[in-house]
Amino acid sequence: MAGIYVHFPFCRAKCAYCDFYSIADGRLMAAYPEAVAAEFNARKGELGSGGISTLYFGGGTPSSLPLSALEATARLLYVPSVEEFTIEVNPEDVNPDAVGLWAAMGVNRVSMGVQSLVDSELKSVGRRHSADDAIHAIEILKSGGMENISADLIYGLPGQTCESFAFSLNRLLDTGIQHLSAYLLSYEPGTLLWRRLQRGLVEEASEEMAYSMYRMLCHVARDRGFNHYEISNFALPEMESRHNSAYWTLEPYLGLGPGAHSLGADGIRRYNEPSLKEYMLNPVASIAEEETEEERLDDFLLISLRTQSGLNLSRLNENRRSQLLAAAENLPEGTLVREGDSLRIPESHWLRSDAIIRELLFG
Ligand code: SF4
Repeated sequence: MAGIYVHFPFCRAKCAYCDFYSIADGRLMAAYPEAVAAEFNARKGELGSGGISTLYFGGGTPSSLPLSALEATARLLYVPSVEEFTIEVNPEDVNPDAVGLWAAMGVNRVSMGVQSLVDSELKSVGRRHSADDAIHAIEILKSGGMENISADLIYGLPGQTCESFAFSLNRLLDTGIQHLSAYLLSYEPGTLLWRRLQRGLVEEASEEMAYSMYRMLCHVARDRGFNHYEISNFALPEMESRHNSAYWTLEPYLGLGPGAHSLGADGIRRYNEPSLKEYMLNPVASIAEEETEEERLDDFLLISLRTQSGLNLSRLNENRRSQLLAAAENLPEGTLVREGDSLRIPESHWLRSDAIIRELLFG
């Protein structure tokens, strides 16, 4: 089954660490649903005939749009077969009216950017909400009947300690959410935080600190009954994100909106230029990536080795499979685990999965 991702490239302000495509200017919000619908109608054939089971409104900040624009987008894309409909929200946009409308649109999963529950840490990266706002927003979501709530946390924030991260993590899990995404802060070139790092105004978390936080995260999440099913994702039983899981098994998905990426049923990846202005003039100008079969297999390897189930070796051709297994032999013992047709990186090594995969691919 396929998925649809809609990118809403609007934010109230830019967070210091963020390099997703978004602008802090809402003038085109009202006209945006029609452009997305035009793109969907022109491109839905790329998904093949398997049906659409997930819809994901991401961004940017979808919850910063007027409710009428969100409702129009959902109505114009009308896909009755959708089983999981996720919307990304920020705490400052959550109120009973909004939750009621999201539910009426068919939303049955909310993913909220919390990032930390320590106010000084939130402030250090330009978040617009307080820790209490985030907790209050989760309570509103629960009162509004949302039974599948995911929250994002970041570790390695400026000024954060292992103790303060443990405090945020435990306080967040105490709210009774069903899903957690936790990311190590990365300093992406061009972001405000990256410029501060260049000027020596902030300090990157040491590798030792990052590992301590990661180990604590895995331990606490496991103790609370969460399954660590992908490097950054934890879920209570049966509450894994179906939309994201489909990315990792190369199910087709259609990414709509500027900066969105897609994978067609024909195996071809496509992307939209990250420019809202250009998109509004021509929303159907997606660009096909020129990938060789070998590059596609490497993509698959890169994505699946970050998941709990690992890489399904039977999806590789004989030549690639032998190359890979030979390269795996040269890695230190315990770096990779082989079980039948599955090759995986154990949880304890996931934090350095990029380096392991590089060694596997390039020796
Ligand atoms: S982190 Fe989220 S809210 Fe902040 S700028 Fe990026 S997309 Fe917008």
